[in-house]
Amino acid sequence: MKYKIDSNGYYGEFGGAYIPEVLYKTVMDLRNIYEEILERDSFKREYKSLLIDYAGRPSPLYLAKRLGQKYGCKIYLKREDLNHTGAHKINNTIGQILLAKRMGKTRIIAETGAGQHGVATATVCALMDMPCRVYMGATDVKRQHVNVERMKMLGAEVFAVQSGNKTLKDATNEAIRDWCCHPADTFYIIGSTVGPHPYPDLVARLQSVISEEIKWQLLEKEGRDYPDYLMACVGGGSNAAGTIYHYIDDMRVKIFLGEAGGLGIDSGETAATIHRGSLGIIHGARTLVMQDEDGQITEPYSISAGLDYPGIGPMHANLAKTHRATVMAINDDEALKAAYELTRLEGIIPALESAHALGMLEKIKFQKDDVVVLTVSGRGDKDIDTYLAHINDNKD
Ligand SMILES: *Cc1c(COP(=O)(O)O)cnc(C)c1O
Repeated sequence: MKYKIDSNGYYGEFGGAYIPEVLYKTVMDLRNIYEEILERDSFKREYKSLLIDYAGRPSPLYLAKRLGQKYGCKIYLKREDLNHTGAHKINNTIGQILLAKRMGKTRIIAETGAGQHGVATATVCALMDMPCRVYMGATDVKRQHVNVERMKMLGAEVFAVQSGNKTLKDATNEAIRDWCCHPADTFYIIGSTVGPHPYPDLVARLQSVISEEIKWQLLEKEGRDYPDYLMACVGGGSNAAGTIYHYIDDMRVKIFLGEAGGLGIDSGETAATIHRGSLGIIHGARTLVMQDEDGQITEPYSISAGLDYPGIGPMHANLAKTHRATVMAINDDEALKAAYELTRLEGIIPALESAHALGMLEKIKFQKDDVVVLTVSGRGDKDIDTYLAHINDNKD
């Protein structure tokens, strides 16, 4: 266990569980049992076998030679884009549904913004034959039509939330409301390292398989099990948490995280919470939040739907505050450019989210023998319309 949370779920000043009274027992039950269940042999066996045979792990660690040539270092890509359902999110939903079953829960709820977590949740619910309701803002239901159809095809009920701005924050509020009404039989599968304690820790552990694999894969390829740099994008923080989990105390490893700058951190159209957020409470945790002077959560903006979140995981707020991680804001145009570059240099179309990790490469001064591991959190098939809309900006 490498992440130091205190017994109340705080990473430094961030974290905790700010929940309505009616959920107290449910959250306490989870908190009291999740570590024990995750450590059970039977859990580990079933989780591991699904990761291998169902999700397709281990994901390759690929030496991207042409990309490395361009930036003057050795770059390995951790290929989470090759997982079943196209991103790292399946690592988490498989783990949480196994936990839900062992806790005797019979119904699953989830929130989703872009729909990726909704799809990953609906997928494991089909697999485990569990009823599933996914809360999604009505605006997002329209914007993310294909993912809505995927969820429905998988047997989930998609509930279009009509309150507020009809986006992710509103979907989250509605999911919490549902949970309050059905705390005994319902398990809430949260999609990132956010939410009340113990969710950030639970999700980080379930995603830690990413850095567990990086360790042995690097040892095989480089003869040492650590890189000089780890790089990942951050929305709520789960693929980043998984990427750095087993290296957090290893100061030989520099950590760079890319958040979504949108049109620029000073433009008012941004999702760069670590740069622009202030201390507040969102989704049941105390963390950095995009909010106005009255504490009203403001609508974030990014070209990438998966990074368009007005909060940030408490662990990452703390990593930034303690300077363990360097956080860069990558703007829409920089992410697009990086996505086109990877596509042409390596034949890999990354998710727009992942392109925010790639966009950091040109901002860092590398040494020739530096070993860099960058996580490609997902594949870009879902973003083709956005890429096509910007193809002319990216013609050489
Ligand atoms: C959801 C998503 C993200 C952002 O979520 P994190 O919890 O920060 O990892 C990043 N990349 C892809 C492909 C996603 O689907």
